[in-house]
Amino acid sequence: MDKPSIGFIGLGHMGLPMASNLVKAGYELTVYDIVEEKIEPLVKMGAARGTSCQEVADKSKVTITIVPDSPDVEAAVLGEGGVIHGASKGHVLIEMSTIAPGVGRLVAAALAEKGVPMLDCPVSGGPPGAEAGTLSIMAGGPKDTFDECLPILEVMGGSIVHFGENGSGYTAKLCNQVACVITIQAVCETLSLAAKAGLDLRKVLEVVGSGLAASRIMELHGPKMLERDYAPGFALALQEKDLRLVAAAADELEMPLPATALVHQLIRSLSAKGKGELGTQALVLAMEGLAECEVKA
Ligand code: NAD
Repeated sequence: MDKPSIGFIGLGHMGLPMASNLVKAGYELTVYDIVEEKIEPLVKMGAARGTSCQEVADKSKVTITIVPDSPDVEAAVLGEGGVIHGASKGHVLIEMSTIAPGVGRLVAAALAEKGVPMLDCPVSGGPPGAEAGTLSIMAGGPKDTFDECLPILEVMGGSIVHFGENGSGYTAKLCNQVACVITIQAVCETLSLAAKAGLDLRKVLEVVGSGLAASRIMELHGPKMLERDYAPGFALALQEKDLRLVAAAADELEMPLPATALVHQLIRSLSAKGKGELGTQALVLAMEGLAECEVKA
């Protein structure tokens, strides 16, 4: 496929920078979001304004979706005015949200009946990775479609791995979330212990972040925790959604994920206090509550 026209649906924290990179790479884009003002920045960059998911698919050869949750993907793809009604045989859907693998398989099956292959391509790397075009992309779906779409994925991603049939990309993303949340909690506990002990938190981050415990999460979220900057790159509400999906996957496999379950409950305690719209770095507030300390530099 030589630079096909692309429809892009969902222009939030991730979608906006991902779509921007595709425009910069010379792709012709038609963009859509249910929140009208989110479309403006891309129209200013030269993308065409879409008015529905159906119209976006109708005008494009490939459609990309990145919306919050499973019901949003079902609405955007299968609902009234959805992608399925605008996509004709040979169209491709690259679905990049983090959703339930089972829902992804159902959406892929409905599209396949119309001769429209789907790739599940959830991502990791957050808004910084989206801006840099270095996201990790975990793909599932027909291998020939994956190979065909690789040049598009390479504009948005650095590490791009195909796992197998539809659903396997979503499952790989759930594995990724296990590592992410436990690491965030590790940073929260490290800084809480240091705060309670009266250590200089910036020095702790500097030295711990240069040793064996160094991680991208510590590098990215540690300073924000110390500055009490809880603006969302990835909202706690979305993280909680991911952990619901992880728990369902573990239930299906009848396996324990003890550390992940603990972090899930801590995130839920923050949601119950109305803090779900804060970024995941705000998990440190749960530790502050438990340990009666203030993580601040
Ligand atoms: P977001 O809430 O910032 O953006 C989602 C966008 O989708 C919003 O602009 C919303 O208006 C739009 N939308 C919802 N339903 C729609 C529909 N039916 N049609 C058109 N637009 C619709 O969310 P985000 O942070 O960009 O995350 C998007 C997805 O990517 C989620 O599944 C999330 O779990 C995943 N993800 C997020 C991050 C991150 O760091 N933010 C990282 C990796 C993966």
